[in-house]
Amino acid sequence: ASWFGHVEPAAKDPILGVSEAFLADPSPDKVNVGVGAYRDDDGKPVVLQCVREAERRIAGSTNMEYLPMGGSVKMIEESLKLAYGEDSEFIKDKRIAAVQALSGTGACRLFADFQKRFLPDSQIYIPTPTWSNHHNIWRDAQVPQRTFAYYHPESRGLDFAGLMDDIKNAPEGSFFLLHACAHNPTGVDPSEEQWREISHQFKVKNHFPFFDMAYQGFASGDPERDAKAIRIFLEDGHQIGCAQSYAKNMGLYGQRAGCLSILCDDEIQAVAVKSQLQQIARPMYSNPPLHGALIVSTILGDPALKSLWLKEVKGMADRIIGMRQALKESLEKLGSPLSWEHITNQIGMFCYSGMTPEQVDRLTNEFHIYMTRNGRISMAGVTTGNVAYLANAIHEVTK
Ligand code: PMP
Repeated sequence: ASWFGHVEPAAKDPILGVSEAFLADPSPDKVNVGVGAYRDDDGKPVVLQCVREAERRIAGSTNMEYLPMGGSVKMIEESLKLAYGEDSEFIKDKRIAAVQALSGTGACRLFADFQKRFLPDSQIYIPTPTWSNHHNIWRDAQVPQRTFAYYHPESRGLDFAGLMDDIKNAPEGSFFLLHACAHNPTGVDPSEEQWREISHQFKVKNHFPFFDMAYQGFASGDPERDAKAIRIFLEDGHQIGCAQSYAKNMGLYGQRAGCLSILCDDEIQAVAVKSQLQQIARPMYSNPPLHGALIVSTILGDPALKSLWLKEVKGMADRIIGMRQALKESLEKLGSPLSWEHITNQIGMFCYSGMTPEQVDRLTNEFHIYMTRNGRISMAGVTTGNVAYLANAIHEVTK
C-alpha cells in the first residue's frame, strides 16, 4: 500500500501562482504586476546600497554560532525603536516582550500560536479583504476568524462607517488584526483622524489591536510617519502586538528578518511573555536565522548607514508614487471615462484597481499582464517602460 496515495495536490497559492504563470509565458511584452516585491525602473530586483555595505562589514567578521532562542538582541532593540519610537518609555521600562521572527509571516504566526495557547477561547477579527495568508495563518493556529468591514468598493476607499460599526458590535475584548500602514491588498489606509477614532473605540470596547506592519517606510517614504497609527494607539494607552518585517523596506525578502513584539503591563509580564514566545519557537525552528538580523542591526545601529537606508526607502516609495501618477495620467489621456483617482489616493505597494476577475483574465490572456484576480496591481512592477502598455491594456478591458 502507498503511504501517501491519499495526498491530493494543494490548491495553488493565489499570489505565488501568478509568478509561475508569468515565468512560463514566452511573450516579450509580458508584465508582472502580481507579486509584491519591489523592482527598479528596469523591472529588476533591487539590493539596497545600505544592505551591500552592511554585508561588506559583516563579511569575515562574525562566526556562525546560533543566535539566542529569541534572536538577535541588537536587532530586536533597533526594531522596537523603529516601531515604538526612538525614545519610547515602553522600551525604557522594558515593558515590551519581543523576539526575532521569520519575517512578517513568522511574526504573525508566532502571535497566532501564542494567542491560541494563552487565550484559547479568543477569536481574531480580520479586515475584508486582507492579505490572503492572514487567513491561512490564523486557521493553522486554530484561532477562529471573524471579519470586519474595511474596503468600500464603490468609492474604492475605506468603509469607515462599516468598520466602526463592526468594532462596536464585536464582543468586548476581541482581538483585531490591523494593517499598520499600506493596507494589502487595497492600498487604503485610515486617515490620522480616523485612526484616532478607531483607537478611541477600541478603548471603549477593550479590544486588543494586533498590528501587522509589513511596509513601514514603504507607504509614505518615511518610517516615522508610517508608524503613526501605532503611535496613536500607544498614546491612548493600549497594549498592542506588532509584527514587523524587513522584507519590503530593506529589500530583505529571502532573509526572513522580522520581529514580533507584545506590549505588556510591566517588565515582569514582559519577561514571562517573551519566555513563552521562545517556548513556542523552540520546537518549530529552535532559533531564527543570523544573516538578515546582522544586516538589519548593522544598518539601524550605524547613523550613517541608517540615513542611507532612509534615503533609499524614500527612493523606493517615491518611484511607486510616481508610477501611480503616470498610470492614472496615461488612462486619462486614453480618454477613459472611468475615474482613476483611487490609483493616486491609495498608498503603498498596491493599487486595488476595481477590475473584475474577468477583466483581469483578459489582461492576462490578451495582453500577457499577470496579476491576482482580485484586481490588485503591484505598483512595484510598473515602470517607465511598461506603464503606457499597461494603461492601454487596462483601458481596453474596462471600456
Ligand atoms: N503582512 C502583509 C500585509 C504582507 O503584505 C506581507 C508580505 N506580502 C507580510 C505580512 C509578510 O511578508 P514577509 O513574511 O515576507 O515579511
